Amino acid sequence: MSAGCVFCKIISRELDADIVYADDQVVAFKDINPAAPVHILIVPRKHIPSLLDIKQEDEALVGHMHTVANEVARAFKIEKNGYRVLINCGSDAGQIVFHLHLHLLGGRPLLQTIAKGKEV
Ligand code: 5GP
Ligand code: ZN
Repeated sequence: MSAGCVFCKIISRELDADIVYADDQVVAFKDINPAAPVHILIVPRKHIPSLLDIKQEDEALVGHMHTVANEVARAFKIEKNGYRVLINCGSDAGQIVFHLHLHLLGGRPLLQTIAKGKEV
């Protein structure tokens, strides 16, 4: 838990979110400003500020986040048509929440580049 971190507050249920999956390592919830019909954030319970901060000990956790992305994609029935998983790392990538998270996007063709959760 990192004081002032919005995703830590969602994980601790201090802040509301539409949670679609949770286990002992990650929580997944709907993005408040969706860029696609399905836009879910997969967030580790551990506060890691960005991808740049992952350590060797986090490798299994980062792998698990991807397995959960697949599971959520199946739950939302977008696995056959396909989906995109992305991580913004740092300011040039448009990262605004400094708690590591995967964006899972799908539900329509994603032909353009998506940055900051929005198409450009
Ligand atoms: P980033 O640019 O850091 O990769 O993306 C952060 C994402 O978190 C954005 O797509 C934004 O809409 C989403 N977000 C920011 N604050 C909240 C919040 O309080 N609740 C939810 N559900 N999503 C949030
Ligand atoms: Zn946090």
